Amino acid sequence: MRIVFMGPPGAGKGTQAALLSTQLGIPHISTGDIFRANVSAGTPLGIEAQSYMDAGEYVPDGVTNEMVRDRLTHEDARQGFILDGYPRTVEQVVELDAMLSVEKSKIDHVIELTVDVDVVVARLVKRSAEQGRTDDTEEVLRRRLEVYAEQTVSLVEVYQDRGLLVQVDGLGDIDAVTSAILSTVNA
Ligand code: AMP
Repeated sequence: MRIVFMGPPGAGKGTQAALLSTQLGIPHISTGDIFRANVSAGTPLGIEAQSYMDAGEYVPDGVTNEMVRDRLTHEDARQGFILDGYPRTVEQVVELDAMLSVEKSKIDHVIELTVDVDVVVARLVKRSAEQGRTDDTEEVLRRRLEVYAEQTVSLVEVYQDRGLLVQVDGLGDIDAVTSAILSTVNA
């Protein structure tokens, strides 16, 4: 099973992807988590990514695509994966298609978690206080939402046209959202 999670920052992609990963026994691959781990470890990739992340901008496609290409070659991803936060641009969609076609595999479901922007802002400001994330100040957050609207929203249509999109209301309680997603992917 190969699943992609979409939705604006704060929609609960990370939480739901982690829960689904446990339920389905396939790895949760979060590009944001990989970037943050590299920032913490001070790797060249982390150093390159940090300024973009702190400004609420996307890390350049070339860097992000290479990172995902490498991650998908790991043994644990052969039987399936949950991509959380990738693809986010049209170019990333094209690259992901190319990576999968080499393996003769394809995406099975794209889950879009839908939320109200005001609720998202309140959620993220709270999360930033709890986790000490430097990319969740209100100003950066507004920029992240803008970048999502400019570069990522259009991907919803791409996957809808392919018949892969399922929209799930991300504002229900965590268990209800997980059940809604599970019933879709198990259908
Ligand atoms: P996330 O935790 O998914 O919200 O990602 C945190 C930050 O990492 C984003 O605001 C971007 O700066 C960067 N990032 C994560 N995934 C991508 C991606 N697919 N393309 C470009 N930048 C990304």
